[in-house]
Amino acid sequence: MARTTPPRPLDVEALFPEVADLRRDAVRLHPRIGAPGARDSSLGGPLLWPRSEPWPHCDDDHPRTALSPPTTDAIPLVPVLQLFAADLPELPFPPDTDLLHVLWCPFDHDAGYVPRPELFWRAAATCDVPPTEPPRPVGASGHYLPNPCVLHPERVTDYPSWDLPEDLFDGLRERFEELEEETGWSYQSHLSVSEGIKVGGYPTWTQEPVWPDCPGCGHRMDHLLTINSGEFDGASWRTWLPVEDTPVTGTIRDLPYEERTLIQRAPGLMLGDMGGIYLFDCRRCPDRPYAHHSDCS
Ligand SMILES: [Zn+2]
Ligand SMILES: [Zn+2]
Repeated sequence: MARTTPPRPLDVEALFPEVADLRRDAVRLHPRIGAPGARDSSLGGPLLWPRSEPWPHCDDDHPRTALSPPTTDAIPLVPVLQLFAADLPELPFPPDTDLLHVLWCPFDHDAGYVPRPELFWRAAATCDVPPTEPPRPVGASGHYLPNPCVLHPERVTDYPSWDLPEDLFDGLRERFEELEEETGWSYQSHLSVSEGIKVGGYPTWTQEPVWPDCPGCGHRMDHLLTINSGEFDGASWRTWLPVEDTPVTGTIRDLPYEERTLIQRAPGLMLGDMGGIYLFDCRRCPDRPYAHHSDCS
């Protein structure tokens, strides 16, 4: 079943022509519990892996938190995303690649007290290892071990919210407030940045943006993808809950917790307090440096 974000309840570009040029295409991935195969784009599913390459491990020093590893042994990374070019042609695949793997070490790291992701761009034709069950390192929290999910990529349009240039935001703030007072629709929650795990568009910041600079060329990196805890929150569900997941009677908030969670947080991730991990890359540098930043409310 596809997942469809309802059309915005208001015409953002008619109301705020100033943001029209800042629109960006995003692909909401809409992960839902399933049994993805090794040749499917997936979240937390089996990866198509190259035989020539050992499975990656993390041997970082981890901070002591409730989510630190119980041993000092190297920790196998766990699959987070497998994205094929056929499903996500929007990804900036380097030449001769058509598959992106995102894995992470499922324990807190000094950087943001979240898992540390690693990216691998590949040619699917070189991946020849029969899939095995994803590793489940002892002691890792379910909050950092994604449930296997199938994806339902959906193309949407983002407008910046936290990423509005300061002078533009200052000029619009009053109109945003007036609109919310008159209609109940919040520019930030309901009309601007699409929520959920997604490729492209704007990061779903919950705090001031932090855009990393490329260590190679010094330019600001591009937003590659966002992995966050939920597809919507207690307010934003009014526009970001897919049509197909909308209860026939009542609202999503009336559903029993377990049922609601299968829609709002199918992968089972909890990054800080409903936070996100944002992945960035540099498309100027041929070795494609990447970086991540995380925040939460
Ligand atoms: Zn680690
Ligand atoms: Zn660069």
